[in-house]
Amino acid sequence: MVVIRGATTIPKDSPEEIKKAVEELLEQIESCNHLIKDEFVSMVFSSTSDIHSYYPAKAAREAGYVACSLFSAMEPDIEGGLPLCIRVMIFVEKNISPRHIYLRGAKILRKDLTRICNIAIDGPAGSGKSTVAKRLAADLGILHLDTGAMYRACALKALEAGIDMNDERAIVDLMRDVSIDVEFKGGVQRTLLDGEDVSDKIRMPEVSMAASAVSKHPSVRMHLAEKQRAIANKMSCVLDGRDIGTFVLPDADFKFYLTATPEVRAHRRFEELRRKGIEVDFEKLKEEIVARDEQDMNREIAPLKLAKDATLVDTSEMTIDEVVAFLKAKMLQEEM
Ligand code: C5P
Repeated sequence: MVVIRGATTIPKDSPEEIKKAVEELLEQIESCNHLIKDEFVSMVFSSTSDIHSYYPAKAAREAGYVACSLFSAMEPDIEGGLPLCIRVMIFVEKNISPRHIYLRGAKILRKDLTRICNIAIDGPAGSGKSTVAKRLAADLGILHLDTGAMYRACALKALEAGIDMNDERAIVDLMRDVSIDVEFKGGVQRTLLDGEDVSDKIRMPEVSMAASAVSKHPSVRMHLAEKQRAIANKMSCVLDGRDIGTFVLPDADFKFYLTATPEVRAHRRFEELRRKGIEVDFEKLKEEIVARDEQDMNREIAPLKLAKDATLVDTSEMTIDEVVAFLKAKMLQEEM
């Protein structure tokens, strides 16, 4: 008999959140340990007192662990302990060396299993990288760093100052006196330009093309790549951009390159802008996306390209859920 341990956290105490978290935890324990449900002999759940302790075992039963004995209990409060945390101890009838699984905020309970993990997602505009990166980061309980936002902030400053985007000297001079920072509030990135939150302003269509133009200047790239590396070296994050896997973090733990046809990408951007109340001409938007690809793929420094060790994913006919599930499965497979 072998014992496998696991833990996870939930954002709030509700039967739905408990069900989601328990299913995710058991699924990972099962696949990482190459188990089938019949090999689970019994499961002992314990949860912090801020959780209705009946639900973890109920969730396990509903997830199909029908032959296994289930027990659920409440843990005593520990000063400084994690809130809203569910732990499990699983007894299995198999001779394996167990892989213990700690997910979401519970990762910090096991320093031996925690290490900084960086996931690079590169690809052209509209390939879905930002949405996928956001979802993946939320599911893994780590940060999402949108590196394009930094180039956009730089471009916004140059636009406001009336500087020609091709004038590298003027851009460099401007960058010397400007501060571009990101901060994370509740896991969501806010982009600050000289202390002002410009997260919404930088999404305007005119900033997109300008960002692509400023991003070709080596000094701008060096400066921003340094900032991105500093963040990635300090904490686990999913970084999305154009050159993460090739230039910013060539040794990232996982690398993906998302793409889709220009038609699909233009359509996604069109809908995204429309949802924000920004009306644009579809054909013009498509032309702009193609022009931006051209500029990003052909610049001299750190152009957009598939890293040799990245997984290419064509998302043209995939939903966001499908892409996220594919990336997670690939990561699990690579980890084994
Ligand atoms: O991803 P997003 O559309 O916000 O990026 C805006 C522009 O910033 C891109 O077209 C690209 O030229 C530039 N960029 C880059 N390297 C990154 C992220 C974005 O050159 N890592």
